[in-house]
Amino acid sequence: MVDREAELACFAARSAQTRGRQRQEDPPRSRSQFQRDRDRIVHSTAFRRLEYKTQVFVNHEGDLFRTRLTHSLEVAQIARSVARCLRVNEDLVEAISLAHDLGHTPFGHAGQDALNECMLPFGGFEHNLQSLRVVDVLEERYGEFDGLNLCFETREGILKHCSPDNARRLGAVAERFLLRRQAPIEAQIANLADEIAYSNHDIDDGIRSRLIESTQLEQAPLYARHRQVVIETMPGIAPRRAVHETVRRIIDTLVSDLIEESERRIAAAAPAGIDDVRRASALVAFSAPIRAEADTLKSFLHRNLYRHPQVVRMTTKAGRIVRELFAAFQAEPRLLPVEHCARVEHEGPRAIADYIAGMTDRFAIREHRRLFAVGEF
Ligand code: MG
Repeated sequence: MVDREAELACFAARSAQTRGRQRQEDPPRSRSQFQRDRDRIVHSTAFRRLEYKTQVFVNHEGDLFRTRLTHSLEVAQIARSVARCLRVNEDLVEAISLAHDLGHTPFGHAGQDALNECMLPFGGFEHNLQSLRVVDVLEERYGEFDGLNLCFETREGILKHCSPDNARRLGAVAERFLLRRQAPIEAQIANLADEIAYSNHDIDDGIRSRLIESTQLEQAPLYARHRQVVIETMPGIAPRRAVHETVRRIIDTLVSDLIEESERRIAAAAPAGIDDVRRASALVAFSAPIRAEADTLKSFLHRNLYRHPQVVRMTTKAGRIVRELFAAFQAEPRLLPVEHCARVEHEGPRAIADYIAGMTDRFAIREHRRLFAVGEF
């Protein structure tokens, strides 16, 4: 096999130097270790479920809105471009990006908050930890192990945040949270690509849904600046095209700035390998002015889209569905499918959280109706 990783920067992650898999396996013959991880993620059940999970809007609200699946693809695409420019491992970046949201509950953050509330007495629920749990434990595809048995670096990248308590429980994969070290560059890239992707597609979906208006968005300088250029250079452009032209310019600005600032930081820190990356301060970052503009855009979206009355109405209902499902299963585990019921006997409420977190939006709605509506089965 041609070693495509030979030309990567000295501080990039390399398959040959992986800290390995939890269960040892023969190395892949025609792929790198991280390509194998990426392929396992794409073949997983949790990955296919992302198609029917909410980003901001409930899955069936409109056919054109982003779902967690299209979001994850956009993250992967942005992250790969950045990785290629910085000469780090594109395959690892892709694997982390495609897996980063595998643990998301139905109904986006509303679902996670409700499930966390239900699970507080039992250690809480956090989608990030759940993504790791999906790839480590919950996927059932292989004869010799639970989960996907991914490489250490992929698992570490999936675990974006972690409390000290959880870090102590998780061991090596979370040690950087206790040692106050950074993740490898590839994980840092996936993290910021996530932010670039959702800020921009939420503008698009927000305007498409008519919950926010383009003129309103001009409160955010990053949007106003690029929209101005579009209107001036393309007089008479149709409103929808003007939005797309503006959004693509914002993405381009963010990605270019991210690459330039990261190159500057890498040159200054001159890491000789992954260990230097871990010990340095964050090497992948926006410049200060763009960081400030991106934050303004994010807080605009928080105020005007994520807390829009119509979104709140949906998230309130979603929260109620999750809480009521949890309470019903907790009171009577025999309402669960047989294998999940058996898991509740051994593992307690965590098995209920796993079951609910794995639901798609429409499955959760249907299950709720079946459990609570008289005359439905
Ligand atoms: Mg995400």
